[in-house]
Amino acid sequence: LTSENYPDVKRDPRFKKLTSDDLNYFKSILSEQEVLQGNELEDLSFYNEDWMRKYKGQSKLVLRPKTVEKVSLILNYCNDEKIAVVPQGGNTGLVGGSVPIFDELILSLANLNKIRRFDPVSGILKCDAGVILENANNHVMEQNYMFPLDLGAKGSCHVGGVVATNAGGLRLLRYGSLHGSVLGLEVVMPNGQIVNSMHSMRKDNTGYDLKQLFIGSEGTIGIITGVSVLTVPKPKAFNVSYLAVESFEDVQKVFVRARQELSEILSAFEFMDSKSQILAKSQLKDAAFPLEDEHPFYILIETSGSNKDHDDAKLESFLESVMEEGVVTDGVVAQDETELQNLWKWREMIPEASQANGGVYKYDVSLPLKDLYSLVDATNARLSEAGLVGDSPKPVVGAIGYGHVGDGNLHLNVAVREYNKEIEKALEPFVYEFVSSKHGSVSAEHGLGFQKKNYIGYSKSPEEIRMIKDLKAHYDPNAILNPYKYV
Ligand code: FAD
Repeated sequence: LTSENYPDVKRDPRFKKLTSDDLNYFKSILSEQEVLQGNELEDLSFYNEDWMRKYKGQSKLVLRPKTVEKVSLILNYCNDEKIAVVPQGGNTGLVGGSVPIFDELILSLANLNKIRRFDPVSGILKCDAGVILENANNHVMEQNYMFPLDLGAKGSCHVGGVVATNAGGLRLLRYGSLHGSVLGLEVVMPNGQIVNSMHSMRKDNTGYDLKQLFIGSEGTIGIITGVSVLTVPKPKAFNVSYLAVESFEDVQKVFVRARQELSEILSAFEFMDSKSQILAKSQLKDAAFPLEDEHPFYILIETSGSNKDHDDAKLESFLESVMEEGVVTDGVVAQDETELQNLWKWREMIPEASQANGGVYKYDVSLPLKDLYSLVDATNARLSEAGLVGDSPKPVVGAIGYGHVGDGNLHLNVAVREYNKEIEKALEPFVYEFVSSKHGSVSAEHGLGFQKKNYIGYSKSPEEIRMIKDLKAHYDPNAILNPYKYV
C-alpha cells in the first residue's frame, strides 16, 4: 500500500491493521475519555496533521492514557501484536515526526499532565511528560525559578516533547541544552517495560548516561513519561533591546561585543533579516514597527540578571559604544514589561508569519557563524534561477533568515503559496549539500523526523548511523515506535 499523501513511501506490511479485537482490548484497559476513535477522518485531524499542515496521516485511533502503567500496557500489547505507534506531545514539531504516515496508532501524552514535585531548595522539577511547557514554567516561576528553556510554541508543546526533540529555543545561549539540564527520565520501552531514572543528582558517573539516549530521540526508542529537570533561578531584572545593523558582518561584530561586555547577563541574542520582519508586520498589523526606518538586519538582545541598576548600566554602556562606532545604526530599549513583550513579538511571530501565505519549507541548520547568512542568499538565488519566486501566481514568496546567532543556528524559512514538488526539488538536497559543504548540521534543533529522514548522512558518518540503527534494533526489535521516520 502507498499513501495518497506520500506516493514514494510504502506501508510496512509487517504492521498489523487494527481490528475490533484490538479496539476492545484498548477499551478494556482505558476509560472512554482516553480513547478517541475516528470514524470520519476529520474527527482526528488535529492529531493526524502537523503544525505546518504539511504532513498528514490517516490514523483512526488516538489513545490518551492517564497513567504510566496504562502507557506500559498499551506498548506491551502493540509490541506483541506488531501495531505501529506514533508518540505525540503537543504536536508542534516542525519535521513531521509527531504525526502518522499511514494508519499508525497515535499515543498522545496529553492526559499525563501532572506536576509531580518541585523542590524549592535544589530547583529540581519532576513532572509528567504531558505537562505543557508554559504550565511547567508558570509553576516554578511562582517559587522564583524558571524553566531553562523557552520557545515560541510554549503554550502547546509538552515538557516530554521538548525533551524528545532536544529543543533548543531562546535560552540555550545562557543555560545550555537539555542534555545538561535534564537530570532524569522515566521511559516506557517498546516492550512495555518501565525504566525509572527520575534522578535528582547533578553528578552521577556510574557508567553510561542512559537518559541521553532518549533526549532528542524523537520517539523512536521509548516513550518519555516523566522528566526531572534542573530549573534556574528566576532573574529579577530583564532588559530587551531591538537594534538595526547594516550587514551580517556587523551582526557578528555586535555578537562578539555583547558576549564580552554583557557577559553573564546576556540571555538571548537573536537576529532577523528585513524580509522576516516584513512578514511579521503582515501578522502584527496593529503594532508599530519598533524603529523608524527599514534596515537589512535586526538584532534582539535580552539581558537578565539579579540587579536592575547594574544590568541597565551595563546595557547602556554597551549600546553607547556600539552606536558610537556605527556598528549599530539604530535601536530601542524596552521601557517596561509591555514594551519588552512587544519587542519579543517581532521575533516570535516569524514562524507563524512565514506560513501565513499558504505554507513554509523550514530548514533549521547549524553553520559556522561567518557562513550563517550565506545560505539564505544562496537559496534565494537558486529559487530565482528556477523562476519560482515573485508575486502570485509564482509559488514562492521568498526565503528569509533568522535565528539564534549565539548558538550558530539559522532558521531558513521559505514562505510559499502552496507546497509543490518543483519547489521541494529546488530546495532539497541543495540546502543539505550547502550545509554539509560548510561542515554544519542539517538539524540544529528541530530534529530529523519524516522531513529529513533521508538526509541524516549529511551530518552523521556511516559508523554513527550504524550505531543508531543497532540501538534501535536492540530496544525496538519489532520497529513499532515511530516508523517511517529517521531511523
Ligand atoms: P511533538 O511535536 O508532539 O513531537 C515531536 C517529536 O517528539 C515526535 O517525533 C514525537 O513522536 C516525539 N515525542 C513527543 N512527545 C514524546 C514523548 N513523551 N516521548 C517520546 N517521544 C515523544 N524548536 C526548537 O528547538 N527551538 C525553537 O525555538 C522552536 N520554536 C518553535 C516555535 C513554534 C511556533 C513552533 C510551532 C515550534 C517550535 N519549535 C522549536 C519546534 C519544537 O521541536 C517543538 O515545539 C517541541 O520541541 C515539540 O514538542 P511537542 O510536545 O509539541 O512534541
